[in-house]
Amino acid sequence: MLAYTAPTTVEDAVRALAGASGMAKILSGGTDLLVQLRSGRARPDLIVDIKRIPEMSGIAARDGGFVIGAATSGAELGEHDGLRNVWPGVVEAANLIGSTQVQGRASLAGNLCNASPAADSVPALIAARATCVVAGPKGRREVPVESIATGPGRTSLARDEFIVAFHLPKRPPRASDAYLRFIPRTEMDIAVVGAGVSVTLDASGTCTDARVVLGAVAPTAVLVAEAAAALVGRKLDDTALDELDAAARRACKPIDDKRGTIDYRTKVAGVLARRTAAIAFERAGK
Ligand SMILES: Cc1cc2nc3c(=O)[nH]c(=O)nc-3n(C[C@H](O)[C@H](O)[C@H](O)COP(=O)(O)OP(=O)(O)OC[C@H]3O[C@@H](n4cnc5c(N)ncnc54)[C@H](O)[C@@H]3O)c2cc1C
Repeated sequence: MLAYTAPTTVEDAVRALAGASGMAKILSGGTDLLVQLRSGRARPDLIVDIKRIPEMSGIAARDGGFVIGAATSGAELGEHDGLRNVWPGVVEAANLIGSTQVQGRASLAGNLCNASPAADSVPALIAARATCVVAGPKGRREVPVESIATGPGRTSLARDEFIVAFHLPKRPPRASDAYLRFIPRTEMDIAVVGAGVSVTLDASGTCTDARVVLGAVAPTAVLVAEAAAALVGRKLDDTALDELDAAARRACKPIDDKRGTIDYRTKVAGVLARRTAAIAFERAGK
């Protein structure tokens, strides 16, 4: 029989996970998990609902950056002016998830730990150098977001660990980010390709730092160092864009399915990387 518990502290949640006799699952917004329970794709023995733990929800400014509780909804992210101004790409990625109803529940941690290759917030978080705080029986550890998903539906978290928060770092001046995805419909669809780009510019508009991350073109989001290298040391000219496009295409190892062939996804990845970089540069230059 499926058991349910809703602890009010992180320590109690870890104890519940560690003490579970079979498979335990964290419940955050439930927009993935409840669908999987109803379809029989997930058959846990215990559900650990973390939403009653106070620190799981909310956004706080810290050390010039932000701490975001793991279960904070997309709607709350979108309503936070400070976060939206500093990390517009992260917020626009999170706000692409689902519908208004889904936005009221869906969290960054759920999007990351569901480990879909097409998860929208993940490329933007990785481009932002976001980290997550993982709680377990030995206490807490902070790891880069890119270390969590290891393949479709799989994560590096131990069975008695869960994510309690995300950290977004302080931004230098003239820095910004952007996220774009391509879907065949106008909304409520899964990314055929997603692209997250974060850049820092100097006073002349030359890029001094960049992160380029692609989603839905490999089993996990891909941090494309070569694509970032195409931008650093340059203004956003045709040479930089052509090299970015080529590097993005080389990094793709997509699947062929009804929503896009390998060739199509690869081409779209280059185009999206260009468009996303252009938006990030424009925002950073303002
Ligand atoms: C109609 C609809 C449309 C959608 N559209 C999109 C879309 O456009 N883009 C997109 O990327 N996704 C989409 N999704 C998928 C889903 O909404 C997102 O992945 C969402 O961010 C999941 O967050 P959640 O809080 O609801 O996760 P949950 O369903 O609560 O959890 C998802 C998984 O993560 C695990 N988990 C949750 N929180 C933690 C934690 N703190 N630590 C460790 N593990 C945890 C759970 O155990 C579960 O395995 C859609 C879903 C629906 C139903």
